[in-house]
Amino acid sequence: MKLEALHSIEELRRTLAPIRNVRNSIGLVPTMGALHAGHGRLIETARRESSYVVVSIFVNPIQFDRSDDYSRYPRALPSDLEFCAARGVDLVFAPPAGEMYPSPQRAFVDVNEITDHLCGPFRPGHFRGVATVVLKLLNVVQPDRAYFGEKDAQQVAVIRQLVTDLNVPVEIVEVPTVREADGLALSSRNAFLTAEERSIAPTLYRALQTAAVLISAGTTCTAEIKKEALRAFDAHPEIRVEYLEIANASDMLPVEQITGSVRIAGAVWIGKTRLIDNVLCTPGGAQAASG
Ligand code: AMP
Repeated sequence: MKLEALHSIEELRRTLAPIRNVRNSIGLVPTMGALHAGHGRLIETARRESSYVVVSIFVNPIQFDRSDDYSRYPRALPSDLEFCAARGVDLVFAPPAGEMYPSPQRAFVDVNEITDHLCGPFRPGHFRGVATVVLKLLNVVQPDRAYFGEKDAQQVAVIRQLVTDLNVPVEIVEVPTVREADGLALSSRNAFLTAEERSIAPTLYRALQTAAVLISAGTTCTAEIKKEALRAFDAHPEIRVEYLEIANASDMLPVEQITGSVRIAGAVWIGKTRLIDNVLCTPGGAQAASG
């Protein structure tokens, strides 16, 4: 079946009103489009759990800390609509920027502390932009559940905190990361990698895996673990490591000694492309398969 996108908030609200009234549960999958199998897993999870699935496709200008990243971000609405139709999505909401931000935005959502680490300091304003647009989307769609990928674990921690602190009536569902066979996490930005860059991109996942093995074997000092994990990049000086951190799995705050479940998270630059990834790890236990 062919799927059309709705572009206006008013149209979306009008369409959802009768649906809300007939015992449907609404699942929202917020995305920036250029959909791939990672998004696909979010949609499939939503499809299993919710009777009506909404996918939003919006390249949110206020979460980009670099204007060139915003302008070159891939946009692929026609193929995204086919992707959604093939997975049984009920409605695609693809507003233009002027619909979401008709006048200069003056109200923003700041989530403190969680955003002081990992990606936060390297991307000023990013999480403020994410938290603000997610709250706007939750207010517009009013879903029962909203689905987010573990690939962006700090983003999930930010959203969980905002939903709790601002009493937003929605269940946040986390979905495991989908990877290529060589471990590279799927990302819309992978399309920017040259063949040569693509061949070394799994180094980030290998570094995270090295740390995970040490933690599973009982090493608890994060400085020691990080030093060992960073060796993975020695053979690839062309990869610039932005950070490699070990954070508490629930609030994503960095830890020095490992006493419980942690996420090993990293960000690297390969050429002009920034990649992030993380894996969940429990000390003394097997690494979670979800990665
Ligand atoms: P994006 O379009 O990149 O903003 O991503 C939209 C949603 O898809 C976010 O919740 C991401 O965490 C999630 N996502 C992106 N890549 C993956 C992946 N490889 N596996 C699972 N979820 C993903």
